[in-house]
Amino acid sequence: MIIAIDGPAGTGKGTISKLIADRLGFGNIDTGAMYRAVTLKILREKIPLDDLESIQKLLENTRLSFNEDEEILLDGENVSHLIRTQEINRVVSQVSAIRFIREKLVLEQRNFAKGRDIVMEGRDITTVVFPDADLKIYLTADVEERAQRRYKEMLDKGVSTTYQEVLEGIKERDYQDMHKEYGALMIAPDAIVVDTTGKSIEEVYNEVTNYIKREEN
Ligand code: C5P
Repeated sequence: MIIAIDGPAGTGKGTISKLIADRLGFGNIDTGAMYRAVTLKILREKIPLDDLESIQKLLENTRLSFNEDEEILLDGENVSHLIRTQEINRVVSQVSAIRFIREKLVLEQRNFAKGRDIVMEGRDITTVVFPDADLKIYLTADVEERAQRRYKEMLDKGVSTTYQEVLEGIKERDYQDMHKEYGALMIAPDAIVVDTTGKSIEEVYNEVTNYIKREEN
């Protein structure tokens, strides 16, 4: 069974996907982590984002995988914590808008899921990666609440930032993710929209699992 979950930043996609996967014994793939890892490598190698030739070469020599805890490995290195920085937040949308990067990662995402029960989350899972998924969920929430959640996460991690900065960053990323030429974030016509505003993780989990049960019957 494939459960595809899309939605903008801060809607709880990661948390909900992990919870569903853990409780159902499914695999869980965070596709945003893949785009973030490629971004990290580009930044480390200091390649300008308009130098597509160098980026193409870099991509050919890049290996993305997940360890048994489903953490992202970049060329074998666990970068799961290094990819969650403000710097990467700022440029990942631009990197993920590059067509050949999307094409390669979409193929890899399909391969990771082959023959497995999986929850996959991202921006184009319900529309491009698995348009025929057994269940398609689009998570959404008010932008202020999403920013508040992200701001709290940042503070918990000891990152120095302001609510306003996080809010502006999320709005900017939403805009870029929704206006990409390829793989733009949009609601698939047959996706179930779940608004998580004001809801606890458990409430959202219960709502989504009700749809899963309906699918299984
Ligand atoms: O989910 P997360 O916020 O970690 O994703 C980081 C970025 O990766 C998104 O803002 C988006 O630009 C990109 N992304 C994408 N397609 C996906 C998943 C993420 O373009 N399937």
